[in-house]
Amino acid sequence: MKIAIVGCGVGGLAAALFLHRQGHDLQIFEAFEAPRPVGSGLMIQPTGQSVLQRLGLLELARQRSAQVVGLDGRDRSGARPLDLLYADWQPQAFGLGMHRAELFGLLHDAVQASGPAPRTAHRLTASRNEPAGRWLAFEHPDGSCSEQGPFDLVVDASGAHSPLRGGLLLRDRPFPFGAIWSCVHSQTLTSDRLHQRFDGARVMMGALPLGDNLPHLTKDGTSQPTFAVFWSLPRSGLQAWRQSYGAWLESLQAFWPELAPAVAGLPGPEAFSAAWYNDTCLKRFVDPRLALIGDAAHTTSPQLGQGGNLALLDAAALADALAAHSDLSQALMAYDAKRRPHVRLYQNLSRWITPLFQSNTRAWGWLRNIAMPLAGRIPYLARTQTRVMAGVQTGLLPWQHSSAETLAGLAALGDDCSS
Ligand SMILES: Cc1cc2nc3c(=O)[nH]c(=O)nc-3n(C[C@H](O)[C@H](O)[C@H](O)COP(=O)(O)OP(=O)(O)OC[C@H]3O[C@@H](n4cnc5c(N)ncnc54)[C@H](O)[C@@H]3O)c2cc1C
Repeated sequence: MKIAIVGCGVGGLAAALFLHRQGHDLQIFEAFEAPRPVGSGLMIQPTGQSVLQRLGLLELARQRSAQVVGLDGRDRSGARPLDLLYADWQPQAFGLGMHRAELFGLLHDAVQASGPAPRTAHRLTASRNEPAGRWLAFEHPDGSCSEQGPFDLVVDASGAHSPLRGGLLLRDRPFPFGAIWSCVHSQTLTSDRLHQRFDGARVMMGALPLGDNLPHLTKDGTSQPTFAVFWSLPRSGLQAWRQSYGAWLESLQAFWPELAPAVAGLPGPEAFSAAWYNDTCLKRFVDPRLALIGDAAHTTSPQLGQGGNLALLDAAALADALAAHSDLSQALMAYDAKRRPHVRLYQNLSRWITPLFQSNTRAWGWLRNIAMPLAGRIPYLARTQTRVMAGVQTGLLPWQHSSAETLAGLAALGDDCSS
């Protein structure tokens, strides 16, 4: 088929690799003049790792990331609401803490090496479906416009602000809190856990290990343990945080003494970028000759660390559906049926869990500090929490889960998976 992929993020690049291997005639479009990653760090869960394994990129990903064995979240009150280990789910399991540039780099290099070069400076604005195929309208940085097509299929991987999902929207609500992000180097934090510190639900800070093999990120080009740090902020709080940066740094000395010196080494508030997120739900992920994947199809709060993984799973599932069905409409329905329930579960969980970590209501913090350690003491519930973290829960009931390999379509391929 003649397929257009719009967006060179995690989902679009993975889809390009899968669909190129299937022999489709691909054109890839990207709004930026040079494709680039956005943000600082993300966690690749066992589900996302299985997709990378299918793409033959897992080994490289491991070399360029930190192996994260679990989550360690402590409240100022002394409570330890998060104490999760992947090993409680599967003995050899772990997450990969990765700098976005590393994940983007390995996917982008693989596309450059094998597939068609992305056509940059093409910002998608609209699309229309005609009997001969689907057309795409683009805007270019010089203000000109163009149309491309007709395509047998358009894969919309243009992220959280996709212009194509208007008619499919079920819900699009902003979360009241977001976060500011940056990268620091620290010898004092252990590099094998995602660390979080809370003061109730109003104050949250985290440090995600990204590995110690990122010399291009250090001032002197040496290898040092690197962390993505994030600080929770209400949407209206960015300006006030910038203005009181010095006082904020001082307050960190008491709040998180092990991390404070590394943050104090940053040049200033300009070293942080802000990220705000929405809870966006679609009726379905497909329309005639159109498949939406990743954040274009579903966005959520990053509290469960799943968005990039869901995008990778979408790309694999779409490719599998196209391989399994010669009829395009059937393939699109199969893709939608496979991915929507899993995504919906994680969107619901994120919506319910996020206020426990980011809210002005004190009671949410208390509830979290009591309920989560309690659940952690009941082995069955503890394993469910860990499965949720690993991305393999498929329903609300504890026994509704799958394996990372099955969700990624790796199990169906047997041993010959990374060819
Ligand atoms: C603060 C924060 C922390 C997160 N932490 C995690 C985590 O730990 N683990 C995890 O799995 N996920 C995490 N996520 C979510 C994750 O980053 C996203 O879910 C993931 O990047 C989605 O990938 P994508 O390919 O769908 O979209 P994107 O990565 O956003 O890529 C979209 C691409 O499309 C391009 N584009 C946009 N508009 C257009 C247009 N109109 N025309 C053409 N091109 C366009 C963009 O330039 C971009 O290249 C986090 C998100 C945030 C905000």
